Amino acid sequence: MIPILDSKRQYATIGAEVEKAVCDVLRSGSYILGPNTKAFEQEMADFIGCKYTVGLNSGTDALHLALRALNIGAGDEVITVAFTFVATTEAIGIVGAKPVFVDIDPDTFNIDASKIEAAITPRTKAIIPVHLYGQPCDMDVIMDVAKRHNLHVIEDCCQAIGAKYKGQMVGTFGDFGCLSFYPTKNLGGMGDGGLIMTNSEALRDRVVALRNHGGAIRYHHDEIGVNSRLDEIQSAILRVKLKHIDEWNAARRARAEKYNELFENCPDVQTPVELPNTYCVYHQYTVKIPNRDEVHKMLQERGIGAMLYYPIPLHLQKVHEYLGVGKGSLPHTEKDTEMVISLPMFPELTEEEQVTVAETLIDCIEKSKSAAAV
Ligand SMILES: *Cc1c(COP(=O)(O)O)cnc(C)c1O
Repeated sequence: MIPILDSKRQYATIGAEVEKAVCDVLRSGSYILGPNTKAFEQEMADFIGCKYTVGLNSGTDALHLALRALNIGAGDEVITVAFTFVATTEAIGIVGAKPVFVDIDPDTFNIDASKIEAAITPRTKAIIPVHLYGQPCDMDVIMDVAKRHNLHVIEDCCQAIGAKYKGQMVGTFGDFGCLSFYPTKNLGGMGDGGLIMTNSEALRDRVVALRNHGGAIRYHHDEIGVNSRLDEIQSAILRVKLKHIDEWNAARRARAEKYNELFENCPDVQTPVELPNTYCVYHQYTVKIPNRDEVHKMLQERGIGAMLYYPIPLHLQKVHEYLGVGKGSLPHTEKDTEMVISLPMFPELTEEEQVTVAETLIDCIEKSKSAAAV
């Protein structure tokens, strides 16, 4: 069995340090908004190269509170993609705004930046580019459109911590960058967690208030906020893990390169295309293949933990039925949803395992083709 992700292998390398950090918190008596969260926020700002970060409960809350801080709500439209995790559009819905979907570029699976302009209306307030699978979006084009139309940009970096576009970290281009520390992310906690990055002091202050019941001073409440604080235990764990993120991302990239090599002579396996001048961090290694559903089933039977991210595009989900964006509206999104499959990818994955994954995938595709020919 080769899993898509094996968190236990990572724990084996850092477990002792994590356990000490957690025990220190347990003994300290300070569990919420204490010294670890404060230090982690500073260490994250230093790592990302932004002025401020604010630790939160989840990546979903990072997106939600970023929208709130920009005063985006009922009657407003936010441009994003349907080829992402539901949390991206859920955050838009939570504030009462409406998602407007733009199709993806089938090479990168990210928003087709050249199609954004056509989706802008007088109600458009923001763009949420999603750096899916750890691949940066085309930020030059996105920022140019945003500037010309006076739109906010909130980058969904939940799958892309440490990814760079032309040498600059994703999350530092727009008004906000949003991160998730869900355990399976490249930098994962041992529970839920999230964070916003920003260079604006005013926006930082607004999120600091919103995460803690709408007030910067205790028991002084200026607006309706939420309870969304990153806790001390998660912060302490994340501080230990942050020291390794560069090395882990580099290991993911090396494994992506190895897969590319293994599939080099297989026209049936379309390997990921990186935009030039980007540093992709391969949260997922996702390929496009024929007979995807059948091959996926065969892989599972043969002990390969491949996954489909995501099996149904967001415009065709029941939750978005009210938008009236029917089948056929987003051709690349819909086609790629039926072709993508994500293969085992984590820093501790061995070369031997990668060879097994590649050989098994190629064999399953061949078998699915001969079955189809009968
Ligand atoms: C994980 C993820 C989120 C949400 O993060 P949570 O911490 O699980 O709330 C949002 N967007 C994308 C693209 C994600 O992958």
